[in-house]
Amino acid sequence: MLTQAPKGTKDIFGAEIAQWQIVENKMRNLCRNFGIDEIRTPVFEHTELFLRSVGDTTDIVQKEMYTFFDKGDRSITLRPESTAGAARAYIEHGMFNNAQPTKLYYIAPTFRYENTQAGRQRQFHQFGVEMYGSYSPALDAEAISVAYELIKDMGINSVELRINSLGCPECRGRYNKMLRDFIGDNLDNLCHECKSRYEKNPLRVLDCKEEKCKKIIAGAPSVIDCLDEECTEHFETLKEILAGMGISFTVDPMIVRGLDYYTRTVFEFVTNTIGAQGTVCGGGRYDNLVEECGGPKTGAVGFGLGIERLLMTLEAQNGKSEYKPFRHLYIGSIGKKGFIKSQAITFELRKMGIIAECDTVGRSVKAQMKYANKIGAMYSLILGDDEVDLGKASVKNMETGETTEINISEIGAKMKELLNL
Ligand code: ATP
Ligand code: MG
Repeated sequence: MLTQAPKGTKDIFGAEIAQWQIVENKMRNLCRNFGIDEIRTPVFEHTELFLRSVGDTTDIVQKEMYTFFDKGDRSITLRPESTAGAARAYIEHGMFNNAQPTKLYYIAPTFRYENTQAGRQRQFHQFGVEMYGSYSPALDAEAISVAYELIKDMGINSVELRINSLGCPECRGRYNKMLRDFIGDNLDNLCHECKSRYEKNPLRVLDCKEEKCKKIIAGAPSVIDCLDEECTEHFETLKEILAGMGISFTVDPMIVRGLDYYTRTVFEFVTNTIGAQGTVCGGGRYDNLVEECGGPKTGAVGFGLGIERLLMTLEAQNGKSEYKPFRHLYIGSIGKKGFIKSQAITFELRKMGIIAECDTVGRSVKAQMKYANKIGAMYSLILGDDEVDLGKASVKNMETGETTEINISEIGAKMKELLNL
């Protein structure tokens, strides 16, 4: 137990961390181009915030939250998603007073007590974007375009975008009634959870993963047919903007999303290449959440993208990435003088942006050169008494074996020349 990470968690290192850094850099650069600022909210929030925002008929609140009482007897929950925390911060810091829209992004560890399987962990990571301060479908399209571009920029081609509209609360009320009528006598045959969903939020029955519920709900009326004029117009304009941007999508009236706060637009990016947990990204508009949490009435839209699932999709397409260590230069040494000097030069070079390494474990010269190969050094040199006294050394290209004489006092400039830095 001591040497095993808790179930549903993962150490990320080696070849994997290189992928994470690449994708995180892409996210940050993309958000810069979209004018989206980073926000870092706490890992835990007051439990009440999630009860209020995520909704008490959802899987998250009913089954998945890591909730505990702290030593001050406060009920605390590790964030199971970050939209609520971001909305709380938006209100707490009066961001609604700024010129709108406010656009925020996060890259955040997220916690859900789930049955673990491929693509389903207890600690996972989300890249999310939240945009506040507009009811225009242009903001929906902008949010969608961030996730779309990230996936495209990573060269992933197996992911498709599905969109739907749940309408405003009035449309949803009408639809819920239609759905109750449709389920009708089949109510007794729904799963235990769907029976309670039927009363409180029948729309969520569409999201149930139980086969018997799926069967009952097949052929249910489409929520899109229940939209009023304004909600229809909103959805139609979104589709027009997306088409204009060259973003392909399909309309899928079965998408309802697992969280209660959505209004009008909902969307998912899905793939069939990583097994049953194929939703890489989910999001939508949530026009009532900010007000519900104590702020002014504020139109808003956002998404959460699972970074593990995104990387699984990439791997399914391109295969596992290899871990290739890499250094510019290995500075080996013989004897005390060379050893001390090698440490000093390595430090100097590192400060100049050259990836340098030297002996810190007391290896023999032969073992040092073997190690230089192992860590992927492009060049190496060896410092002994003579080299230190004469101030000259011979730099060897590890691939070609070619050597170049250099003055040790000019090693930085010389290495930059050799490396084309
Ligand atoms: P699912 O239907 O797969 O449970 P969800 O509707 O609960 O997903 P969201 O709350 O919308 O998911 O979260 C957004 C994204 O976060 C998901 O599309 C997925 O990529 C990722 N995600 C959600 N739960 C997990 C998990 N337990 N492990 C890994 N990634 C997850
Ligand atoms: Mg879930």
